[in-house]
Amino acid sequence: MKYDVAVVGAGPAGAWTAHLLASRGARVVLADPSHPREKPCGGGVTGRALALVAPVLAVDRLPAVSIRTARFVDTTTAASATVPLDGGTFPGALVVASRTEFDGLIVAAATRAGAALVTARVTDIAREHGGFRLDTADGTVERAAWVIGADGANSLVRRRLAQPLRRDQLSIATGFFARGISSDEIVLELVGDPPGYIWSFPRPNHLAIGICAEADAGHSAGALRARVAEWIRATGIAPDAPLEPYSWPIPSLSPRDLETLDVARHGWLLVGDAAGLVDPITREGIFFALQSGAFAAETLASGRSRPDRVYSDRVQAAIASDLARAARIKAGFFRPSFTRLLIDALGQSDRIRAVMADLIAGTQGYRSLKWRLANTLEVGLLWRLLQMRMTRG
Ligand SMILES: Cc1cc2nc3c(=O)[nH]c(=O)nc-3n(C[C@H](O)[C@H](O)[C@H](O)COP(=O)(O)OP(=O)(O)OC[C@H]3O[C@@H](n4cnc5c(N)ncnc54)[C@H](O)[C@@H]3O)c2cc1C
Repeated sequence: MKYDVAVVGAGPAGAWTAHLLASRGARVVLADPSHPREKPCGGGVTGRALALVAPVLAVDRLPAVSIRTARFVDTTTAASATVPLDGGTFPGALVVASRTEFDGLIVAAATRAGAALVTARVTDIAREHGGFRLDTADGTVERAAWVIGADGANSLVRRRLAQPLRRDQLSIATGFFARGISSDEIVLELVGDPPGYIWSFPRPNHLAIGICAEADAGHSAGALRARVAEWIRATGIAPDAPLEPYSWPIPSLSPRDLETLDVARHGWLLVGDAAGLVDPITREGIFFALQSGAFAAETLASGRSRPDRVYSDRVQAAIASDLARAARIKAGFFRPSFTRLLIDALGQSDRIRAVMADLIAGTQGYRSLKWRLANTLEVGLLWRLLQMRMTRG
């Protein structure tokens, strides 16, 4: 077998896995036809995600906007509250980067460590002689003992070796890049239908603006994008900026899906979006892509028997169980009666602003959210929240 591991997809999950495996001496081939490319994505990279890659990447040289504030807007009343994200209390909580730059740095680290980069799409994968044969669009064939599926929400590895994500396990994100404009504030306008928010994330030379809805909820991408266009016009957030449309799927798993994830079997592992690892509320996926990639590399390099089981258990315990909690409270989180109360509370209480800043920074897990809110909210607010049962789960 020419390679120990073939990694399909060189987004953060695949490129980071390839880097870590090649650094440990594995023979790695990394296949992706798309780089350099701008992935349709908010590009919000949390402090905890940067901390994972900081030992290897020159993150201080990454062109990125350091976010100073997050402004929450209630769509029905237009009431708003601003949460500080940097300065004394939350330094480095969130930066927004171009995915061309961020992903490009990780791909470069992988090839520096010795991974062979194949710039072609993998078109087929089949078991062969105790390993795998991978056919690529440029006609080359690669062979490896292990395959890692890091090929995003529409993963070919998933389709060939497991089950594809079903429509009810996907959401569709759509919107515009507004060129030639930036800021140091993210804006999140909370909407009840579809449950979630319209966001504006400022990158160094454009705003990434969008909305997300469950793929099976009956909202067409065109209608959602028209809503975003109207929002851009009404808020005046990007006057005269050329608007470049995008649409892209994001995994959006139910609590049950997340409690029973199928991310590895004999010979293959799924990481990042291909494994369905995205926070259902904040839509943070980059951190989980890097973290699951690190788990995959550490497990394969450890030489333990049945690495597929070791990896699955670790993903379940360290990632999926908390994401399942988020999926359980999601409906309540975006209910208009709750978001009104939330904006009110954000306006009134430093401690609630701190909880929200930590949620955005990814440092507030969902297991302790209920406890922290209960110990943070004033009695009156807490009572009203409990009546709405938002903290259920
Ligand atoms: C609109 C939007 C906004 C988002 N905002 C944020 C945010 O602000 N912060 C955050 O943390 N997350 C955000 N996310 C989620 C984040 O983009 C993903 O979770 C993250 O990119 C997952 O990384 P990945 O490496 O698993 O997959 P990807 O980044 O999707 O990379 C998959 C790679 O696989 C390659 N590939 C696919 N098929 C094949 C094939 N057959 N052969 C070879 N290569 C293949 C693709 O070319 C691609 O490069 C957002 C997502 C969207 C859609």
